[in-house]
Amino acid sequence: MRTILMGPPGAGKGTQATVLVDRFHIPHISTGDMFRAAMKAGTLLGLKAKEYMDTGALVPDEVTIGIVEERLHEPDCANGFLLDGFPRTVAQADALGKILHKIGLKLDGVLNLRVDEEKLLARLTGRRVCRKCGATYHVLYNPPAQDSVCNECGGELYQRRDDTLETANNRLAVYNQQTEPLIAYYRNQGLLKEIEGDQEIDLVLQDILVALGQAV
Ligand code: ADP
Ligand code: AMP
Repeated sequence: MRTILMGPPGAGKGTQATVLVDRFHIPHISTGDMFRAAMKAGTLLGLKAKEYMDTGALVPDEVTIGIVEERLHEPDCANGFLLDGFPRTVAQADALGKILHKIGLKLDGVLNLRVDEEKLLARLTGRRVCRKCGATYHVLYNPPAQDSVCNECGGELYQRRDDTLETANNRLAVYNQQTEPLIAYYRNQGLLKEIEGDQEIDLVLQDILVALGQAV
C-alpha cells in the first residue's frame, strides 16, 4: 500500500497512521516526526527546521523534499509506505510524483481527512504526546488512563511547542494557503478519497479501510 494521509493540522493523521502502519506492516513517514527527531538530536537539519516549526511556518521545500527522497529510497519502503504530513505544497507534490516515477512506483490513493476548522483548534491545543514512544492523546477526546502518563509505555506526556493557540492558528492559516490546493491536485489525478474525520477515532479508521478496499 502506497498512500498519503492528508488533512489539516489536528485532523487525526498521526492517530490513524499509527494503527494503519501496524496493520499493513509498512513504514510511517511523517515529516513532522522526522524534523522533531532531528531537533531532539540537535542536528543541523533540526536547527534549521526549528526556525520554521516554532512559528507554524513550513520548512522550505528543498529541505523537506530532500529528506523524503532519501527516506523513500530505503529498502523498507519497497513494499509500501504511508506518508503523513507530506506533501504540503504543490511543489512537494510535483517532486513526489517525480521521485516515485524514478523509482517505478505509483500511489494507490490519497486519503483526505476532513474536519471543520473550529474543531481543529480544540484538537491541537488539547493534544498531548508521549515523550518516549510518540503515542498521541487528547486531554478530553482521547485521555490517557492516568493523567500525563502514556498507556502504551508509561512515558511522560507533553504538549508540543507548536500546539499553543497562536501557533496552531498560524498553522491552520498556512494549511489553507499552501496545502489545501492539494485536494484539487489529487482529485484531478483521480487519487483522492475523502474521509469524514469528525467522528470517533474507530469509525474514522473503518472509513479509511473501506476507502482502501480492505477488510474492516
Ligand atoms: P494530525 O497528525 O493530523 O495533526 P493527530 O492525530 O495528532 O492529528 O490528532 C490531533 C489531536 O486530535 C490529538 O490530540 C488526537 O488525540 C485527537 N484526535 C485524533 N482523532 C480524533 C477524533 N477522531 N476525534 C477526536 N479527537 C481526535
Ligand atoms: P506535523 O507534525 O505534521 O504537525 O508538522 C509539524 C511542523 O513540521 C509543521 O508545522 C511544519 O513546520 C513542519 N513540517 C512538517 N511536514 C512538513 C512539510 N511536508 N513541509 C514543510 N514543513 C513541514
